[in-house]
Amino acid sequence: MTDLTRMKVAQARDALRAGEVTSVALTEACLTAIEGADALGAFVHKTPEIALEQARAADARIQAGDAPSMCGIPMGIKDLFCTKGVPSQAASGILKGFKPEYESTVTSQLFDAGAVMLGKLNMDEFAMGSSNETSVYGNAVNPWRRGNDDAALTPGGSSGGSASAVAADLCLAATGTDTGGSIRQPAAFTGITGIKPTYGRCSRWGIIAFASSLDQAGPMTKDVRDAAIVLGAMCGHDPRDSTSVDLPVPDFESMLTGDIRGKAIGIPREYRMDGMPAEIDALWDQGRDMLRDAGARIVDISLPHTKYALPTYYVIAPAEASSNLARYDGVRYGHRATLASGEGINDMYEKTRAEGFGPEVQRRVMVGTYVLSAGFYDAYYNRARKVRTLIKRDFEQAFATGVDAILTPATPSAAFGLGELQDADPVQMYLNDVFTVTVNLAGLPGISVPAGLDKQGLPLGLQLIGRPWEEGDLLNTAYALETAAGFVEKPTKWW
Ligand code: GLN
Repeated sequence: MTDLTRMKVAQARDALRAGEVTSVALTEACLTAIEGADALGAFVHKTPEIALEQARAADARIQAGDAPSMCGIPMGIKDLFCTKGVPSQAASGILKGFKPEYESTVTSQLFDAGAVMLGKLNMDEFAMGSSNETSVYGNAVNPWRRGNDDAALTPGGSSGGSASAVAADLCLAATGTDTGGSIRQPAAFTGITGIKPTYGRCSRWGIIAFASSLDQAGPMTKDVRDAAIVLGAMCGHDPRDSTSVDLPVPDFESMLTGDIRGKAIGIPREYRMDGMPAEIDALWDQGRDMLRDAGARIVDISLPHTKYALPTYYVIAPAEASSNLARYDGVRYGHRATLASGEGINDMYEKTRAEGFGPEVQRRVMVGTYVLSAGFYDAYYNRARKVRTLIKRDFEQAFATGVDAILTPATPSAAFGLGELQDADPVQMYLNDVFTVTVNLAGLPGISVPAGLDKQGLPLGLQLIGRPWEEGDLLNTAYALETAAGFVEKPTKWW
């Protein structure tokens, strides 16, 4: 039965429609795999009853001849998505016991399309982190290991549980969110595919907010075709999110021809960082050659403001987070501190927030409050907003010269060991996002595709960045890269 869990979404969809498998059988196989994988820490709230009920309904729908693309497909859902009646904690102590009365737009669209929810997935607290180590549940673990070394590695973050679950075949696909790289970096660390669509493609309604001008949902899948299918079901206009775009959703899957002849692929010179491992550099060159061999034209481009991207992001994201997280005051949601006699409402706010938020979230709230404070607003927040515009303009200028997509490494290293960076200077952790944050600052679509293994046998990813709203074209370029790279490796099961 375990073979069922290795299926991809496209394969399972076709087998379900052909009556070769049932959603109940697929779902049971995933539930069994999940039960045997507690060592990965990927699922933090399991929902087997909901899953089986949805699977039975999906089977009935398929029997009746109504089988939308996601019908009967078992998925994992990142804990950042509000799911009605099911714990949705953003991996934070402050939302302990929070069960929303409503369903996020993305999950309700997936369920309307027949998807099955196996449970909620681990992540960094409020999606702040790159290693899944800030989670109140404890970290998720990468199913990959270095050679014969059994040291536990990070699956990346913040969507670490999603990445671990998909890479370990506990589910067929998962939802993720990406504010500065949280879909693409964990996808790269675990040998799977992850796409962050254009800002505004997926509704943010019902997704617990981190930094509202950067947050986007997207799928984490076993390959590019599955990314096209799942993204199609997740995105679309939503009047409840004023930043959601009212554009038709193309049939992304039908755009996967693999034909990229004549496309211009930009190689940004500023992404060749000092001290970058030679293997990452070499992989990037190989990716460039693969796209050239597939008929694309390679052009050198310059994105001169790239060097300011990390500091800009780490002003804007905490600023927005400090404002978004002000609502967790012990009154309306989740945790409330117990007060000693004589303590009042201000003590309640302070104690609740001190107890409920972990250290990284507290650091971001403090940084954010500082950069927004009257004396420093212009020096930091307003300055960062201006630099953000320049970063966006760099991309616009590159696209205006006819560039169709930009190729970069996805991460500056392969997966690192759990604990390796946790106690270091937080900036060491922030450096992980060096290739991904520009894409969020500019609101562009970006995809990470597994492209090879490093010397230690760990997966490495390449990132493609596309023009706004052209996810179909981006997915097709990614499909050509995936085909050429031929990455089929899987982690060896040890859990
Ligand atoms: N690692 C980045 C951060 O900590 C990005 C997180 C994300 O994309 N949610 O902010």
